[in-house]
Amino acid sequence: MKSFHPPQRTLMGPGPSDVNPRILEALSRPTIGHLDPAFITMMDEMKELLQYAFQTKNTITMPVSAPGSAGMETCFVNLVEPGDKIIVCQNGVFGARMKENVERCGAEAIMVEDTWGTVVDANKLEDTLKANRDATIVAFVHAETSTGVCSDVKTLVEITHRYDCLAIVDAVTSLGGIPLHVDEWQIDAIYSGTQKCLSCMPGLSPVSFSEAAVDKIKTRKHKVQSWFMDLNLVMGYWGSGGKRAYHHTAPINALYGLHEGLLILREEGLEQAWARHSLHYQALRTGIEAMGLSYVVEESARLPQLNAIRIPEGINDAAVRQQLLEQYHLEIGAGLGEMAGKVWRIGLMGYASNPRNVLFCLGALDNVLTSMDAAIDTGRAVAAASNILFPGE
Ligand SMILES: *Cc1c(COP(=O)(O)O)cnc(C)c1O
Repeated sequence: MKSFHPPQRTLMGPGPSDVNPRILEALSRPTIGHLDPAFITMMDEMKELLQYAFQTKNTITMPVSAPGSAGMETCFVNLVEPGDKIIVCQNGVFGARMKENVERCGAEAIMVEDTWGTVVDANKLEDTLKANRDATIVAFVHAETSTGVCSDVKTLVEITHRYDCLAIVDAVTSLGGIPLHVDEWQIDAIYSGTQKCLSCMPGLSPVSFSEAAVDKIKTRKHKVQSWFMDLNLVMGYWGSGGKRAYHHTAPINALYGLHEGLLILREEGLEQAWARHSLHYQALRTGIEAMGLSYVVEESARLPQLNAIRIPEGINDAAVRQQLLEQYHLEIGAGLGEMAGKVWRIGLMGYASNPRNVLFCLGALDNVLTSMDAAIDTGRAVAAASNILFPGE
């Protein structure tokens, strides 16, 4: 055996996305103690950077030391008690995981189901809330990565609050890629991930909790069943200033990486990052359509950072992705769940949302599909996308 050297890939799937080299460099800086004063200073900055990314003043804003799924679980185990009634909206893969979380907390999940590839229906949610006046929480996904759909968080939270429930929002794929305003939209508990639009390494999950959510956690009747995720304990470490107590050994170097990633986001500016994701989506879309391929999701509900494209008739999904990986070192995503074999998921997340990737992906896909005699308009995609990226040239 010898040291592991991964191949150089371009990551344009549903995550992880290409990691910014600045972040890779930050990860390799010397490890220091997790209670070192220098590290504590970095943690304080991290909180401020996360508050900016989430657009919140919530004091409980921090990264959970584990991937997005652990951020999800942190929200549920802290806010759900045995016997509670929780409304879960499902329009893709990730709503099903929320249901699992609710049930494992000993609570009942009332499902609001929408067709995959469509948004969470606000009217259906309201009807469900009317029929379940004893519900305490509503949970839903902002950016459904399995289908490429963006749901209307602001409206869904408004309805949730009208029925005295708290809102848990999955923002794993939305943070840094599309508008997200935690305070303005009055989201109570939110979790994200580092490996999607923040372009960091996988393995951390930024979370944030409103005052109402914190009150609920403090007045729980039952102990949180997870010792590791119990926010009452975690806050002893991530809480205020100098008085930090050991809870678990923080993933020191990974946190350097997230700090750098959030700094990059702040340097660019949130609005600019959202605009960049939107522009590169427009370019990719123009190329995809010039090729004669189509999107699964209707235009008004599409995520710029996750493009679900229908696989053309008679084309072998896995063979295309294999050829892209072997010949072009390009990774795109397969369909998940009901969409397996029917769609490709092309990610334009964070650092990977750039003109070079758009043109590279279109060119590679065009070549591979042409070599397989797919019924596409060959040789048009790159030029069409270039017109959007470089107008007037
Ligand atoms: C990726 C993803 C998750 C899970 O995050 P992991 O870091 O893989 O645990 C949860 N929800 C959504 C919407 C995602 O896209």
